[in-house]
Amino acid sequence: MKTILRTMLLVIVSPAFALAQANPDWHASFPGFKIAGNLYYVGTADLAVYLIRTPQGNILINGDFAEDVPTIRKSIEGLGFKYNDTKIVLISHAHGDHDEGVGMIQKDTGAEVMVMEGDVAEVQSTAQGRPGAKVNRTLKDGDKVELGGSTLVAHLTPGHTKGCTTWTMQVEEGGKTLNAVIIGSPNVNAGYVLVGNKNYPTIAQDYEKTFNVLNSLPIDLFLGAHGAYFGLKAKYETMKKGGANPFIDPAGYKAYVSEREAAFRKEWERQKQNPPSAGK
Ligand SMILES: [Zn+2]
Repeated sequence: MKTILRTMLLVIVSPAFALAQANPDWHASFPGFKIAGNLYYVGTADLAVYLIRTPQGNILINGDFAEDVPTIRKSIEGLGFKYNDTKIVLISHAHGDHDEGVGMIQKDTGAEVMVMEGDVAEVQSTAQGRPGAKVNRTLKDGDKVELGGSTLVAHLTPGHTKGCTTWTMQVEEGGKTLNAVIIGSPNVNAGYVLVGNKNYPTIAQDYEKTFNVLNSLPIDLFLGAHGAYFGLKAKYETMKKGGANPFIDPAGYKAYVSEREAAFRKEWERQKQNPPSAGK
């Protein structure tokens, strides 16, 4: 009985835990592949991990759950790269499905971990399900991460977490420069309190800021923290057939962002009409 109660409590307090039970793609392996230029996909079938290859080693964005790290490593090695060449690890945001494995990757490879200010405490936390990583560099909105001729820009897109980060970079492909946008998360999770939130009073304004940022970024390659945001599986199948790169999808990006903004505004209105009592 005690165990059942504890499990129920975990499900209630942890949206990530509840979803982990529901989405088999989270821990399913997926072939590593080149998206464009020096930008590669090395995540699971839904939990996105990006590898940026440079002559001075590689950058990884996200570490997924700790149990997914061997899968990520296999994808990296399957592309002919070395896991130990990981020099920098970044995250989309400090939730377990994107950052729990970061501590392990840092221990394995000695990579530097760089995290947006609002998420640093969560990434350094050693509580259960937290990465317990050492953050080597604290990032602010607009900061650049540079390695071996590649530059990533950290855009603060808060709300989902206080330090939620959308990463952008330019890649060269077939003589063209492409703008890649890796969305941190525009989602209002079940149970999120947008009105009268004592732990995060500016949460709704932060989501508004996030949609302003997402609407203003130059976009060719539409990517994000979960494969489901941008249709990873279907686009990968399309890509295998050859032809135009399906990840170049500014229309899909704009449709996704406006649909997510409408969902946020609808939920905000609902909570204004019917304010939640408390919560995170
Ligand atoms: Zn999240």
